Amino acid sequence: MVPGPMPRLPDRLGRPLRNLRLSVTDRCNLRCQYCMPEAEYAWLPKANVLTYEEMLRLVRVFVQLGVDKVRLTGGEPLLRSDVTVLVRMLAALPELRELAMTTNGILLADKAAALREAGLQRITVSLDTLDAATFRLLARRDDLQRTLAGIDAARAAGFEDIKLDTVVIAGVNDGELGALLDYARSVGVEIRFIEYMDVGGATHWSPERVVSRARILEAIGRSHGAITPLPRTDSAPAERFRLGDGTHFGVISSVTQPFCATCDRARLTADGMWFTCLYASEGTNLRDVLRRGASDEELLAQLRSVWIARRDRGAEERVGTPDRRPLADSAALRQNPHLEMHKRGG
Ligand code: SAM
Ligand code: SF4
Ligand code: SF4
Repeated sequence: MVPGPMPRLPDRLGRPLRNLRLSVTDRCNLRCQYCMPEAEYAWLPKANVLTYEEMLRLVRVFVQLGVDKVRLTGGEPLLRSDVTVLVRMLAALPELRELAMTTNGILLADKAAALREAGLQRITVSLDTLDAATFRLLARRDDLQRTLAGIDAARAAGFEDIKLDTVVIAGVNDGELGALLDYARSVGVEIRFIEYMDVGGATHWSPERVVSRARILEAIGRSHGAITPLPRTDSAPAERFRLGDGTHFGVISSVTQPFCATCDRARLTADGMWFTCLYASEGTNLRDVLRRGASDEELLAQLRSVWIARRDRGAEERVGTPDRRPLADSAALRQNPHLEMHKRGG
């Protein structure tokens, strides 16, 4: 056993590790243009995918390093069979202040109540459009109604902190911001608009397709009147705003105003690769360390040594890059599929 909790460990830029995004599978039942636009993907070999016991073991060690928030993601996390079993295992860890999931909502109608009962606290559903034809174009599946039913089911299951995430793409869904905001308000959940990022996997990204924070706020100001910024309370990436009628919404300006200075997040892929930045080209293979039979102390020592050396500022470093292009083209992704957002977990 690892000895009791230790003080939070700062990286080279003074940032502690608090948040772990745990990708439970790289499979997905959508093919969003901004994430998986290619015709084919190489999936992680099954034998490499961590079992729930292995994930729990790693999370316990991350907790020793200071992690107190875990978000399950993917790929589509609800495609992993019996993911409620993992939720229950993690919910039993007293050190975790927050256990959350990001999902596209397609399978949520059937699973929301069980997830809630297993101890999931917060849920974020990705919803980019309310128009069935745009959904088909954007996600290449005809599943808008299932996503909306999933949001209803999450509300019915009693989730109090439901959020919607919308990636805004010029010429695709940027005309719908007001309608999405009205929908979120009508179902009593908060929506966040995300700038389209040039992350690994986003091979169709171009600067012209990014709708900046400034343009998002202008569009909402035009449709919904005065916008008041709310004070920031933590290191969460979303800047929050209030409308005249009290509705809150968020903007995540990862491209135009990145928030690397306060980034306390790390990502673990379903096959146990640990990345300290969404844009990092190299990760640490924790699966091999784990399966070699390392003790918790050895794992912890490895995590500490990686975190204290961390200098990542991936999004900030890309600001102002001349002729900015996607992080990786299709050939680079075939060479290194771990660069993909659907492997790394958003
Ligand atoms: N499949 C789940 C979903 O879509 O909610 C979870 C995994 S997905 C990779 C997590 C988040 O990453 C989603 O909210 C998605 O919108 C976001 N994402 C993926 N590619 C993106 C990009 N190029 N720019 C901004 N956000 C992106
Ligand atoms: Fe879309 Fe999420 Fe699947 Fe990526 S992982 S294609 S964002 S649903
Ligand atoms: Fe954190 Fe990297 Fe994203 Fe910056 S680019 S906020 S360091 S994950």
